[in-house]
Amino acid sequence: MMKAPALNDDAVSARIMEMMKESGAHLEGHFKLTSGLHSGHYIQCALMLRFPAFAAYAGERIAERIASSKPEIILSPALGGLIIGHEVARSLGVPFIFCERQDGTMMLRRFPHPGKVRFALVEDVVTTGKSSRETARILAEGGAEWVSSASIIDRRADDSYKEWDLVSLWKLSFPLYEERNCPLCKDGLPLVKPGSRPG
Ligand SMILES: [Zn+2]
Repeated sequence: MMKAPALNDDAVSARIMEMMKESGAHLEGHFKLTSGLHSGHYIQCALMLRFPAFAAYAGERIAERIASSKPEIILSPALGGLIIGHEVARSLGVPFIFCERQDGTMMLRRFPHPGKVRFALVEDVVTTGKSSRETARILAEGGAEWVSSASIIDRRADDSYKEWDLVSLWKLSFPLYEERNCPLCKDGLPLVKPGSRPG
């Protein structure tokens, strides 16, 4: 894995935060994340990415930051990674492919394996990094080289995957709670599982 270039580009983070607010992608309430943890904030990237100008901005910023790793192809997991992966690939002038889950397993369903190429993994949000690894393994197992990883949002806990170099545009630091000591549960706020319609 390459060493990521300087990460805390505050102007870019600030612009991404603004675009999330403007597009209604930054939701506040009581949410159960895919990790199972509870949070008072949820970023629904799809709401931001529905605006092509915002998607292009995020794609260009990620492309700038991973260009030095010289990826020959971009790989993203469906559905969340489709739009941003495509924008990054467009900006770098390389092909874009995606994998998807079938019977619980990530696989390349629609594309031939690209072979021994250099690839970058691009996602909308990284929460634990578990599915990132699962996704990247698909190409790595066929001899491709995983040269960089990027996401719009990095919402990993601070102590997780320190050895893994993830380029992100916005590092979230909202508190996360285990269900048993979640203050929002204690307050009786209805719990929303994002992706399902808030009640
Ligand atoms: Zn809760």
